[in-house]
Amino acid sequence: GYVARSAFKLLQLQKQFKLIAGGASVLDLGCAPGAWLQVACQSLGPLEKGGAVVGVDLKKVKVPSHHCDSRVRTVCADVMDLMKSQARELSPQGKGFSVVLSDMCPVVSGITTKDSAISCELGKRALSLAVGASLPVSGNKIDEEFLDSSEPDSNEDGVLRRGGNVVIKLLESEEMQGFGNFCKPRFKKVSWSRPKATRSSSREIYLICQGLR
Ligand code: SAM
Repeated sequence: GYVARSAFKLLQLQKQFKLIAGGASVLDLGCAPGAWLQVACQSLGPLEKGGAVVGVDLKKVKVPSHHCDSRVRTVCADVMDLMKSQARELSPQGKGFSVVLSDMCPVVSGITTKDSAISCELGKRALSLAVGASLPVSGNKIDEEFLDSSEPDSNEDGVLRRGGNVVIKLLESEEMQGFGNFCKPRFKKVSWSRPKATRSSSREIYLICQGLR
């Protein structure tokens, strides 16, 4: 079985969007306790196809025995401190990842604005590791005006390979639009999804970006 119910969210996203291809290389940010590692590894297909799944979490994670094989490994680190070069070194032959997943979220305080702010920071960090550019911010708000004029720079260089896909969990907030606007010129397709496995009371929503340009 799966080590957490969150597996069903990624299974649903995978079914709907076909994010992880056979033999893919996947970076899973906020991977504890490891259910997404299981689904990601399953999605790689048979061992001969190759591929890799690298999980990162603040917590130490033992790779689940079920649904995971030798292609999965985990690293204990704070993603907010993880440098792009370090993340790249974790990828197969240092060539980057074809998929970046972030299911990171703060320990929910119940204070809506605070949780949203941390969730937004984690999402921004995941996105900037992936694409190599950061969402423009002024104060703690995403700068909408700047965003409108922010065309992708040809030098942008994150850990995500061209054509790659990103999944980022966010809490619904005013900043969401900013994430979408930032991603639209950089990816072929940008969607939002609330998998059915998500509790109806939860404000969680997933940003799905497909096909990095
Ligand atoms: N996708 C996982 C699974 O299926 O097993 C569940 C992830 S859980 C909802 C969110 C995780 O994000 C927690 O384990 C937490 O430790 C991690 N997290 C939060 N902030 C983080 C950070 N700054 N760096 C690394 N991990 C972080």
